[in-house]
Amino acid sequence: MQITVERDGSLTMTAPPTCQRDQLERFARAKRLWVYEKLALKDELPPSVKREFVSGEGFPYLGRSYRLQLVRGERAPLRLEAGRFKLPRAQARAGEQLFTGWYVEHAQVWLEARVAMWAERLGVSPASVTVRDQGYRWASCAAGGRLYFHWRVIQLPPRLIDYVIVHELVHLTHDDHSPAFWRAMARVLPDCDSRRELLRRLGAQL
Ligand SMILES: [Zn+2]
Repeated sequence: MQITVERDGSLTMTAPPTCQRDQLERFARAKRLWVYEKLALKDELPPSVKREFVSGEGFPYLGRSYRLQLVRGERAPLRLEAGRFKLPRAQARAGEQLFTGWYVEHAQVWLEARVAMWAERLGVSPASVTVRDQGYRWASCAAGGRLYFHWRVIQLPPRLIDYVIVHELVHLTHDDHSPAFWRAMARVLPDCDSRRELLRRLGAQL
């Protein structure tokens, strides 16, 4: 069972279909303090940047910002071409949805390849890689080695994406954030502390 605090402050609960209602209620009650802490934290964070879908607006991808250019015509709804995001003017109103779709699609391809590279290096084999909206978490690791990544991960610089990936892969052998977990992290990424700090600061802006 899992509870996620979404961006708008709502809660999502995930549970196996066989789970009884009273079990769900018990779990939700047990998580109440954690939920309030998350909600309090949300109020402290700067409001996430509200981007407008107008020419000149910058959109992050792999740690760089690319400007949007509204174009004529109805070809591919949204594409990154010659250093510009190009979106038909007529589709600007669906900009948020189109950008999210674009990020999900590119994150899936990019993360699958990168996870495979790190998994081989670490000698682990995750069961699957899924990109979705993870609420306030960059990534998570579920039973059976299924890895989940927030689509916003693809907005980060590659060295921070590597941190997120390695973190989840190390969880395949260490469930918690024990000293052994952090030692394993530091063996793979000796500068993992500075990457973690940078991720914390950058994440608040995204
Ligand atoms: Zn962790």
